[in-house]
Amino acid sequence: MTVFLCCACGTSFDTDTAPMVCAICEEERQYVPPSGQAWTTPERLAQTHRNSWQQIEPGLFAIQTVPAFGINQRALLLQTPAGNILWDCIALLDEATRQLVTALGGLTAIAISHPHYYTTMQDWAAAFDAPIYLHGADQQWICRPSDQVRLWEEDALALSDRVTLVHAGGHFAGGTVLHWAADDGEGVLLAGDIVQVTPGADRVSFMWSYPNMIPLSAPEVTDVAERLAAWPIERIYGAFAGQNIRSGGQEIIARSAKAYVERITGRAAADPDQAPPRW
Ligand SMILES: [Zn+2]
Ligand SMILES: [Zn+2]
Repeated sequence: MTVFLCCACGTSFDTDTAPMVCAICEEERQYVPPSGQAWTTPERLAQTHRNSWQQIEPGLFAIQTVPAFGINQRALLLQTPAGNILWDCIALLDEATRQLVTALGGLTAIAISHPHYYTTMQDWAAAFDAPIYLHGADQQWICRPSDQVRLWEEDALALSDRVTLVHAGGHFAGGTVLHWAADDGEGVLLAGDIVQVTPGADRVSFMWSYPNMIPLSAPEVTDVAERLAAWPIERIYGAFAGQNIRSGGQEIIARSAKAYVERITGRAAADPDQAPPRW
């Protein structure tokens, strides 16, 4: 068995000949670079890249590959009394990362927001003997089978009394976010790019395709916001470095979804109070 990684998105494929296409990149929510499809292997990647660690808040680490590889998302390692959960995944699982995760107590579960971050989830699951929780609506995007995959279909799935996966939809049919009742009593949302934290960290957005800038429809955005409305959310951590909303998360989601719907339906442009200022 030879594992190949797509250099554009980090998805792993198990084949003895390099696959000619990456199903994830060929689809309209990702892209094939103008230079064409390129492939590497986990071994080669480990020679040129490493993972950096950052504690985002007590009990929550971000793990990110440097220099950037693939989509350049971060994975989050959430420490709970019921064990460590890896939220989202990155392609590089090198020896240093293996030893550090093991020293922290290993993983009891892996959960991933959507197929762009499936990457090498199969190898992380095998290394730490952990199940991978994926929403069943995205089953078709699993490019490499694993006995550790657990498909779920409900609106929400509790992983412990403090951690719940919530089906939000939007960017992908099975789009998932993780709700954590943190030690300080506040609700924390691990959002991937199902709820995309904007550069000012004071708004969020919702897109069908981020690289190709294709929006979701007004009913789809409304649906995502409604699926999250019942959850107490103070802090939101997105898929990329710096996407850290430190307070007011639920209000920010509701306000951002409302503004998005008003804009995409044309209501914002028709309302003089919301028209852009004339300088
Ligand atoms: Zn790809
Ligand atoms: Zn995505």
